[in-house]
Amino acid sequence: MFKALVLNEVEGKTVSAIENLELDALPQEEVLVEVDYSSLNYKDGLAVTGAGKIIRNFPMVPGIDLVGTVKESASEQFKAGDKVIMTGWGVGENYWGGYSQLARMKAEWLVPLPEGMDPRWSMEIGTAGLTAMLCVMALEEGGVKPESGPIVVTGAAGGVGSVAVSILAGLGYEVHAVTGRAETEAYLRELGASEIVSRESMAEKSRPLERQRWAGAVDTVGDAILARVLAEMNYSGVVAACGLAAGYKLPTTVMPFILRNVRLQGVDSVMCPVDRRQQAWQRLQTELPAKALGEISELIALEEVPDYADKIINGQVRGRVVVDLKK
Ligand code: NDP
Repeated sequence: MFKALVLNEVEGKTVSAIENLELDALPQEEVLVEVDYSSLNYKDGLAVTGAGKIIRNFPMVPGIDLVGTVKESASEQFKAGDKVIMTGWGVGENYWGGYSQLARMKAEWLVPLPEGMDPRWSMEIGTAGLTAMLCVMALEEGGVKPESGPIVVTGAAGGVGSVAVSILAGLGYEVHAVTGRAETEAYLRELGASEIVSRESMAEKSRPLERQRWAGAVDTVGDAILARVLAEMNYSGVVAACGLAAGYKLPTTVMPFILRNVRLQGVDSVMCPVDRRQQAWQRLQTELPAKALGEISELIALEEVPDYADKIINGQVRGRVVVDLKK
């Protein structure tokens, strides 16, 4: 028997419960993994609370991330004892995920845990951290360098934002952090932000073009804030947009693109090809300051996930939350 958080739909509402399951309950996939840790992302919050229509088929075990040890494998790619990470691919949405002490995964979803990386550390990074690194890579590919000018990170005290601030500061960029929580200022400065910008000021309706302020941007929130970020980009600036914490709309104009040569680069971690994932994980291993994650993360038990799911949806989680499946 093993423990899992199971979601069911009752009278149109999503309800969660910790259940003791038998191995037979798991879907038939190639690799059986004993899960050490999972993590809590915004999408997990939407799934567990039912606030977003993330789950279509019930019962469902949520959890879009996991790290663990292979117990059995029908694939030649992995053998018992291998340490593996899984993020994305619709796991925890369409397929049973990481909020479970045992999980069955397709081999193609798994990447080896980078040599020397602590399993808990990998989930302190998780989907949020992977996405942050993919955003940084997008800025670099657009030609943004530390000497280009300041980089703005929105939703900075959240999971993606915190890791992005930390990586960028570590690489020598000047990072300006947008937050709606003034009380996170000391935390964001500790991660390496040199300026704190209020969410309120960024959410004000912008003109098609505003004063140029940023060489690059990592946007985790969308909507009016992303529109303002675009209007405030320097000539040839690059925006890596990955999130919708404020909303999925984008009330902008073509002006930043056609008059300032601004590039808007979308970033997706879910279907990101394996090679690029591995490259991002390797870079996270070497370029994310180890000290930063200690500051960023909090460890919780599986039983605490529903409470924390409410918190992340209400913007009350700071940094990253790791879920301990060994308890
Ligand atoms: P978190 O909840 O940890 O962080 C989101 C942050 O956004 C909050 O901490 C808060 O930061 C800010 N925020 C919340 N509500 C609002 C609002 N109404 N207006 C403006 N800012 C707000 O989530 P994650 O970091 O896990 O995810 C961030 C976003 O990125 C989500 O939309 C998520 O779906 C998306 N995402 C996308 C991925 C992809 O592959 N494209 C992968 C992972 C995440 P503060 O308190 O500092 O203001």
